Amino acid sequence: MAAQITTPSSSLRDITKIERIGAHSHIRGLGLDDNLEPRKNSQGMVGQGKARKAAGLILKMVREGRIAGRAILFAGPPGTGKTAIAMGMAQSLGSDVPFTAIAASEVFSLSMSKTEALTQAFRRSIGVRIKEESEIIEGEVVEIQIDRSLTGATKTGKLTIKTTDMETIYDLGTKMIDALSKEKVLAGDVVSIDKASGRISKLGRSFTRSRDYDAMGADTKFVQTPEGELQKRREITHTVSLHEIDVINSRTQGFLALFAGDTGEIKPELRAQINSKVSEWREEGKAEIVPGVLFIDEVHMLDIECFSFLNRALESEFAPLVVMASNRGMSKIRGTQYRSPHGLPVDLLDRVLIVSTTKYEPEDIEQIIQIRCQEEDVTLTAKALTVLTAMAQSTSLRYALNLISSAQVVAKKRKPGPHTDSNGEAVKEGEVGVDDLRRCYTYFLDEARS
Ligand code: ATP
Repeated sequence: MAAQITTPSSSLRDITKIERIGAHSHIRGLGLDDNLEPRKNSQGMVGQGKARKAAGLILKMVREGRIAGRAILFAGPPGTGKTAIAMGMAQSLGSDVPFTAIAASEVFSLSMSKTEALTQAFRRSIGVRIKEESEIIEGEVVEIQIDRSLTGATKTGKLTIKTTDMETIYDLGTKMIDALSKEKVLAGDVVSIDKASGRISKLGRSFTRSRDYDAMGADTKFVQTPEGELQKRREITHTVSLHEIDVINSRTQGFLALFAGDTGEIKPELRAQINSKVSEWREEGKAEIVPGVLFIDEVHMLDIECFSFLNRALESEFAPLVVMASNRGMSKIRGTQYRSPHGLPVDLLDRVLIVSTTKYEPEDIEQIIQIRCQEEDVTLTAKALTVLTAMAQSTSLRYALNLISSAQVVAKKRKPGPHTDSNGEAVKEGEVGVDDLRRCYTYFLDEARS
């Protein structure tokens, strides 16, 4: 294959990033304050303070680029928010930090080898932030930068371009450079230029450091070359995943496969070429690596081959943060006769940070139920809330949360208008009362009764 490696556009990425809706759609973040302390009830999150704080600390390290190639394991009983916290982490990451969620069993059910499925999941979780140059469009703000090699100082002016005609732009730019070099303007001044007269007027001094340029939205630069020529540079950045680059460049697949979700196996040689190309871009300053997060639910379902793959893959140059979850204690490592904590081999456990989640207090459960009711637009009467909280404790949180929407369907089937429940509580039209919940409780069994 030629060295020309194509990257998918950012719009494509927008389409492929599908929002998860459903059981965790009320989670909007980890609900931590600036000091990473868990707020009581925030961003859809309640309780599980220690685990949320640990997740926040981990995210901080991810953002600082200090935790790529590491693994975290959330371990705790079913329904204690392991997946919810992982979703909260995803929500707190920036929109261009990739987050991939898989259930370990998916690795076995796809039409590809286990290691290929895991490799794809890994590469989906690594972002490549690519800087590209593009055309100037009318009305854009551009910057003029002059390198004063005599003094070593860089002078900067700012110019709003109202034309796409390159000749005019060069003309204005040259006038600006003249004015700047005649010391009329100081480094860091923001100036405007009158197109007809070429007169320069100062708008103020508002930026001197390069990071301030971004704040002003000026991403286009005219840079004076040592020969005195003006060069237009406009940098736009977009982030794509390594997997997207793989698929786009795979001759057998092509980018339509990204939409179909069926990408098949990708040749290792192609990946090697892409890795070296990306490293090259990185050295040339054209690209940055954005290590993202790969979440593997029910990780005890992986087998020994997958675990040894994980161990190796975590050491590779492009490794994301791997977050795993398991609700098993001591169990057999699949594919072996050995038992170990959470069904993970000891050499993998050894490199993992383990965060435990614990059973909820009744008041946490009550608040989670209230949050879900808001999310699903369901109103419970006061007594129904107490009864559902008690049901969650005697069955499971997930069972109780599932009853919310079915009880609403039952409530809607009632005769219109208010009525009085068998316990004497007044139930308004549209509200869910204790009788509605009881009926659903008999229709749908929890695990123990089943
Ligand atoms: P399992 O081990 O069975 O996979 P889990 O620990 O991953 O369980 P979740 O699926 O995260 O549990 O939790 C069950 C439900 O309760 C989900 O709808 C989840 O969004 C919600 N939930 C759990 N913990 C919290 C929390 N701390 N705040 C808000 N909602 C929560």
